[in-house]
Amino acid sequence: MKKLLAIAIALIISTAFVADNVYVCDSKTSVAYHATKDCKGLNRCTHEIIHISKTDAVSVYNKRACKICY
Ligand SMILES: [Zn+2]
Repeated sequence: MKKLLAIAIALIISTAFVADNVYVCDSKTSVAYHATKDCKGLNRCTHEIIHISKTDAVSVYNKRACKICY
């Protein structure tokens, strides 16, 4: 039972870690952050694509969640 609990906790932590990182087009005209680097919304990006935490994407870069990949 303890082992199962440990696996469950590890799964929650790893899921939270993955969910916390997003892709952002480092351009002033981009408005969204993306779950994957291959999102259609990032195809048009002519600037650098940066991998940052979701918190930074919202508070520092003022992005919102992409409607295609979220
Ligand atoms: Zn997207």
